[in-house]
Amino acid sequence: MKPRILGQGLHPFRSPFSTRGKFVSRSWNRHASCSSSSASSSESTPPKQRLWVKLAVVGVAAAGIGAYIRKSQQDGPSTLNPLAFTKYTLIAKEPVSSTGSIFTLKPPKPDLNSTVYEAAWQTGVWSVMFKQPQLQIGRDYTPLPATTTDNQDEDVLRFFIRKDAFGEMSRYLHGLGIGSLVEMRGPKIEYKIPKQTQEILFIAGGTGIAPALQAGHTLLRRTDETRKPRIHILWANRRREDCAGGVNDTSAKPQKTRRFWFFGPRTPASPSSVPDVQRHTAAQSLVVRELEALKSQYPGQVTVDYFVDEEKTFIKKQDILDFTNSTHPNGSRLPKNRMILISGPEGFISYMAGPKLWAQGTEVQGPLRGIISELDLKDWATWKL
Ligand SMILES: Cc1cc2nc3c(=O)[nH]c(=O)nc-3n(C[C@H](O)[C@H](O)[C@H](O)COP(=O)(O)OP(=O)(O)OC[C@H]3O[C@@H](n4cnc5c(N)ncnc54)[C@H](O)[C@@H]3O)c2cc1C
Repeated sequence: MKPRILGQGLHPFRSPFSTRGKFVSRSWNRHASCSSSSASSSESTPPKQRLWVKLAVVGVAAAGIGAYIRKSQQDGPSTLNPLAFTKYTLIAKEPVSSTGSIFTLKPPKPDLNSTVYEAAWQTGVWSVMFKQPQLQIGRDYTPLPATTTDNQDEDVLRFFIRKDAFGEMSRYLHGLGIGSLVEMRGPKIEYKIPKQTQEILFIAGGTGIAPALQAGHTLLRRTDETRKPRIHILWANRRREDCAGGVNDTSAKPQKTRRFWFFGPRTPASPSSVPDVQRHTAAQSLVVRELEALKSQYPGQVTVDYFVDEEKTFIKKQDILDFTNSTHPNGSRLPKNRMILISGPEGFISYMAGPKLWAQGTEVQGPLRGIISELDLKDWATWKL
C-alpha cells in the first residue's frame, strides 16, 4: 500500500469525525426548534433508536465528505500552479513531421487558468514541467501561443514535442492515447522580456522554435501606435519535413536583394513579395503555419529564415550580421532594446553562444562564447534559453 495515498485518504475523515459531537448537536437542535411535528415524532421515537438514527446520518454524511475530499485530492488541483501537478487531458495529437507532434491538453476545469496563463504571456518565455508517473521524472516543455483556432474557452495548452526513440519522457508522451491524463506544474518563467525591448533576433534549433513563437507573441502584443517591435527568427532543422512549406523572408535570396522590413517600404524584392501562391504550394507544417499566422497578425514585424541540415544550409555569422547591422529607424542602440535569444539542443546553444553552466545546483548563463562572441555585438544583449 502506498503510504501517501493512505495518508491522504485517512486525514480528511478525521476532520468531520473530530467535530462530530458539535455537528450532531447543532443539527439536532436546529431540527428540534424549527419543526414541532418532527419534535413530536422524535419524542415518540425511543431514545436508543434516535441515537442510532443520528449515528447513521452522521456516518453517511462523514463518509460522503470524506469521499469528496479524497476524490478531490486524487484528482489534484484544477488550476495550473508551480507547487502541485495538475492533471490535464490529452485531447489532440497532430503530427508536424515524422519527428514531432503538437499536443493539445485540456485542464481539469475550464475557465480557471486564463489568469495564470496571461501573467506568464505578459512576462516572456515560460515553460511547464511534465511528470512521467511510472519513473517519477520531470521534463520541461514550452506552451505554444494560442491561435484563433484553439478552443480558448477551455484554456487548452499546446506543445510541440519532439519524438525521441531513446528519450524517456518523449517516448512516454508520444505513446499516450487521446483521453490520457498528463500531469504538469508551472508556469516557470524562463526569460523575462524587458519592457523596453524593441528588436529580437531569435536563433532556434528544432523545438527551440516554441520559445521563439512565445517571444514573438509576448513582444508583438506590446505593439501600439508609437511602438512597433520586431522579431527576426533564424530556425535550423535537421530535415526539410520539420519546416515543410517554410519560405525564407531574407537569407536565401542573393545578398543584394536581402531586405529587412526596416529598409523602408516594401519593393518587389522584399520578403512579402514572395507570392502567396508560392508560400502555400508546398504543404505547410503546422509550425510553419503558426509562424505565418504571427506574420499576418503583425504585418512587417516578423521575418523568418529556415536552415536545413540535409540541404546543407546552416546559420552562419553573416545571417546574424545581416540582421544586427541593419538599423531600425527609431531604434535605440541600448542592449536592453535589442536582444539575441538562443534556444535549442545543448550543442546548438554552445555553438552559437557557448555552453550554459551549472553553479551551486543552478543552471547559469556562463560566459558568451561561440560564433556570437566572435561578432563582438556590443549593442546587443544575448540570452541562452
Ligand atoms: C525550458 C525547456 C523547455 C523545453 N521545451 C521543449 C518543448 O517545447 N518541446 C520538446 O520537445 N522539448 C522541450 N524541451 C526538452 C525536454 O525537456 C526534454 O529534454 C526532451 O523531451 C527529452 O527528454 P526525454 O526524457 O525524452 O529524454 P532523456 O531520457 O532525458 O534523454 C536525453 C537525451 O539523451 C538521449 N539518450 C538517452 N538514452 C540514450 C541511449 N541509450 N542511447 C542514445 N541516446 C540516448 C536521448 O535520445 C535524448 O536525446 C525543453 C527543455 C527545457 C529545459
